[in-house]
Amino acid sequence: MLNIDAIRSRFPILRSTVHGKPLIYLDNAATTQKPVEVLEASRQYYETVNSNIHRGAHYLSQLATEAHEEARKTVAEFLHAPDADSVLFTSGCTMSINMAAEILGLSGRIRQGDEIVISTDSHHANIVPWQMLCQRTGAVLRVVPLTEGLRFDMEAYARMLSPRTRIVSVPYISNALGLVLPVREIARMAHEQHADTLVLIDGAQSTGHMEVDVVELGCDFYAFSGHKVYAPTGIGVLWGREDLLRELPPWLGGGEMIREVTFEKTTYNDLPFKYEAGTPNIEGAIALAAALRFVRSVGMDGIESHEAGLTRRLLEGLRSMDGMRVLGGDEDRGSLVSVVVPGVHHYDLGTLLDQMGIAVRTGHHCGQPLMQALGITGTTRFSFAMYNSVQEVEKTLGAVERALNMLR
Ligand code: PMP
Repeated sequence: MLNIDAIRSRFPILRSTVHGKPLIYLDNAATTQKPVEVLEASRQYYETVNSNIHRGAHYLSQLATEAHEEARKTVAEFLHAPDADSVLFTSGCTMSINMAAEILGLSGRIRQGDEIVISTDSHHANIVPWQMLCQRTGAVLRVVPLTEGLRFDMEAYARMLSPRTRIVSVPYISNALGLVLPVREIARMAHEQHADTLVLIDGAQSTGHMEVDVVELGCDFYAFSGHKVYAPTGIGVLWGREDLLRELPPWLGGGEMIREVTFEKTTYNDLPFKYEAGTPNIEGAIALAAALRFVRSVGMDGIESHEAGLTRRLLEGLRSMDGMRVLGGDEDRGSLVSVVVPGVHHYDLGTLLDQMGIAVRTGHHCGQPLMQALGITGTTRFSFAMYNSVQEVEKTLGAVERALNMLR
């Protein structure tokens, strides 16, 4: 059991009021709030260490370099990655997926007629980079449909896999539906089809909510954003299989990613620096490590079961409401629930909840093709983090009832 009061006390923003009401923050799938441990890590960095890394012989530069590389090790441990060198810092999950697409494109591995497979419930960040790669290479984007129950259709996927499949890229948990995809099975089937078929898992919604072991998942790439795991914005991670990253070419050129530069030719640095041109977000990486240590100190099992409890209660309460349509079933669900109420616009519901101090997300959740497939314009989405309480869920259920009474 988590001590929710103790956890909440670490997040200063949770003491705020919104429109005169205590804030109930249920938009954690968009971004999470930051604990004092993370805010302190950022402040301390600037107060005591701030300096550019890898370049200076001076003391502060060495401290900053050590802290940055320690942060990489913390991320590697968090993901159970065998090697810290295969953890690449990016600006966020969007950049991580774009980077994977870019380096695979540059490698010449993707050719005309090859196929890239994604899921219908992908975020735009897992659609557009692959579409752009297809445009450049003549590859074809294939989209696995959803079953009636809004699950990734494994049978359709099995039929879709072919000797032309080069990449399979899917979310671990869909950000619009909250459903967990069977990513191990998806990866296993892709690799069985062809040893060179690569699998990327978009971990934006799983990281920080459940244990992630990139080796056990059997993926080739894993991407996530720091700001959804209690760290600041502007820092993210692309983990890649080390042998693959060694082989693939860099995409951004500049300082730090080089070994030797002449006007005629440049040779590239080793991993991970080959993929990290320019001055990185040093503070962000250090704060991300602080966030991941904070998550570990609370404990992943406790977080997962606490959030599952909140989600169960929310689902039960929402399902008992007249006309309420919860998207997807209860099994294999993350801590995120999306609803549609026929006759009520999601934006109106979101605005009334905001008036009552409750922050939720409304709209298409960067999943326009999914909304089209479902024949809706958007949903109202409730998403939890470790600091949400049962009392907040009860208040939210009451607020949803009141809002619907006003709107109908
Ligand atoms: N993938 C998923 C599943 C997401 O939920 C998000 C963020 N909503 C992203 C990718 C993109 O993350 P970011 O905007 O932090 O780059």
